[in-house]
Amino acid sequence: MTFTTLIVSDINKLKVRKMSNFNFSKRSVEHMQGVDPDLIVIFTEAIKTCPIDFGVPVTGGLRTVKVQGKLFIDNKSKCDGILSISNHQTGNALDFYAYINKKASWDKVHLSIIAGVIMATAKRLLKEGKISIKIKWGGEFGSQSFHGWDYPHIEVVV
Ligand SMILES: [Zn+2]
Repeated sequence: MTFTTLIVSDINKLKVRKMSNFNFSKRSVEHMQGVDPDLIVIFTEAIKTCPIDFGVPVTGGLRTVKVQGKLFIDNKSKCDGILSISNHQTGNALDFYAYINKKASWDKVHLSIIAGVIMATAKRLLKEGKISIKIKWGGEFGSQSFHGWDYPHIEVVV
């Protein structure tokens, strides 16, 4: 099964709306505070057309050294926050999770669909002059295709 077939069959299975018009919860909006304003513009625009609802987790936005260090200790990040600085500490990254059937999902297919919408939205907004940043998806880290390791992660290309 090709990746595209997988995505299409998954969308059908989910019985999601084709044009969603989802909106971020108050919590997700709070979790985005302090990151690059263009990242917030991209996410806020992307959720309106994404076939899968999504949110921003509590540590998905701007992180303090302390929070970053805790994620490192818990094996949830490769950056310790001091010797290796995460893009989350400079406000240049945002994480997301899929929200399906009232539950958070970190399923790679779900995250890939959302990432695709976010990437396409960013491209369009840049073309329209509404943002001035380019972004990169963590699902492509260390690889040419879909074999990266950080599926829930989007960061500014600096
Ligand atoms: Zn991240």
